[in-house]
Amino acid sequence: MRKHSQPQPREAFRKQGVMILVLIIAILCCVVAIGVIVVMDQIAHMRASETYSTMDTAQVGTSGATTSTEETSLITESSAAETTLPAVSETTPQATTTQSLPTIPSGITGPDLTGYVVVLDPGHQEKPNREQEPLSPTMSGSKDKVSAGTQGVATGRPEYEVNLEIGLLLRAYLEKLGCVVYMTRTENDVNISNIERAQFALSYSPDAYIRLHCDGSSDPNRKGIGVFVADTGKHKSKLVEWSDMLGEALSEATGAKYRGCFPSGRYSGLNWATDIPSFLLEMGYMTNKEEDLLLSDPDYQLKICAGIADFVSQMPLNPDRPKDLD
Ligand SMILES: [Zn+2]
Repeated sequence: MRKHSQPQPREAFRKQGVMILVLIIAILCCVVAIGVIVVMDQIAHMRASETYSTMDTAQVGTSGATTSTEETSLITESSAAETTLPAVSETTPQATTTQSLPTIPSGITGPDLTGYVVVLDPGHQEKPNREQEPLSPTMSGSKDKVSAGTQGVATGRPEYEVNLEIGLLLRAYLEKLGCVVYMTRTENDVNISNIERAQFALSYSPDAYIRLHCDGSSDPNRKGIGVFVADTGKHKSKLVEWSDMLGEALSEATGAKYRGCFPSGRYSGLNWATDIPSFLLEMGYMTNKEEDLLLSDPDYQLKICAGIADFVSQMPLNPDRPKDLD
């Protein structure tokens, strides 16, 4: 018995050792597997964020500018792996590249806008500016330099991003028809007050200064197009007529309801630009699910562009514009 009982502890010890080794290997495998899953998840997440930002920050070359080196390398890697990764949600805008500006389909036709000059102001910016600036050159009061804007109930997108996306598309659309277009901003992360935007617009003596916005309301059923203008200034007698031209052209092109023109003294960005035909266009409600989805829909965005192009063609050329600004 003693003869047989002696090797047993050694064998048991050896078995125990093997089991511990197997356990260590198994744990190591688990750690490696979890690591791979986490990295893949981060790559997929970074790609989704990058695609979501589309032609706003991305196309003007600022995507990832504030991210760490580690995140930047993930972005680069994810771009290279784009074809092998699953497609992102259909609700995200169509552009997937980080460099190219929006392109207009070749079949697009519209009025000849040769000789027209338009300034576009995609409303708001990535970070609001609560500093105050004078409401008007003639009235007392002050206003935030740049307010925050609304947000999509269905898309979750911030208004400033949608405004710029449509603005960049509209610029390309109008230019294709021969129009000269200037934009107050082509990036989301800027700091340009409403008065500064107005002064930028004034410097070009345009035929129309169009401030692109999306509306918001506590009533989720409210929808439609609205045009706000100053209630004073050089073009006061014509502004309602021109606003109706804009609203109706847009309504005809998109099928959305035109709610009307609203003259008001509440908008610093209009009050400081009364020497030119200035319009604050509310293209639709992001607090209405249906319109929110449409405002991010590439086909619908092209309809908005068609309506605005039609409107521009009906505007008189600004007689005050110096020849060298044409
Ligand atoms: Zn707005």
